[in-house]
Amino acid sequence: MRLVLLGPPGAGKGTQAAILSEKLGVPHISTGDLFRANIGEGTPLGVEAKSYIDAGKLVPTDVTARMVESRLAEDDAANGFLLDGFPRTVEQADILTELLEKKGTALDGVLNFNIDEDVVVQRMLARGRADDNEETIRTRLQVYRDETKPLIDHYGDQIISIDAEGEVEEVNQRAMDKLGK
Ligand code: AMP
Repeated sequence: MRLVLLGPPGAGKGTQAAILSEKLGVPHISTGDLFRANIGEGTPLGVEAKSYIDAGKLVPTDVTARMVESRLAEDDAANGFLLDGFPRTVEQADILTELLEKKGTALDGVLNFNIDEDVVVQRMLARGRADDNEETIRTRLQVYRDETKPLIDHYGDQIISIDAEGEVEEVNQRAMDKLGK
């Protein structure tokens, strides 16, 4: 299955993606994780991305899209993937569509994790990641509203809506049910 996971920061996409990846047998590809790994290793990509991530802003699309393209070219992604954190803009969505078209494939669906904003702020503050301070969280939520939320309309009837409030296992079961698994 080729799926994109959408939702505000703190919706639990990463947690759900990890579980779904196990159950569906396809790799979990998180652009945030890929950036953090590059930052940890001190690669040029990591150095470039760090200032944007620390500020809660989007890393430029050309840099991000190149990273995603090379990750999707790896063998384990040939028959499916769960994309977590990409696309985050309509421009990135168009790039992804083209990239998949070149391979003669397309997405099977877009899981949209719905959750109240107050809940995500609490979750992020509890998570304690380097970019999880109040100011950065505010910026990331604004970026989400302005840039990422329009993807819900963009994907239209490809959207599979999941209620993301509640326990991890409960939310996961809802996703599996909607996927018919
Ligand atoms: P995440 O782990 O998905 O919350 O991403 C953490 C940070 O990585 C974001 O706040 C952005 O700075 C950056 N990032 C992740 N994915 C993208 C993307 N598709 N486009 C631009 N920046 C991204």
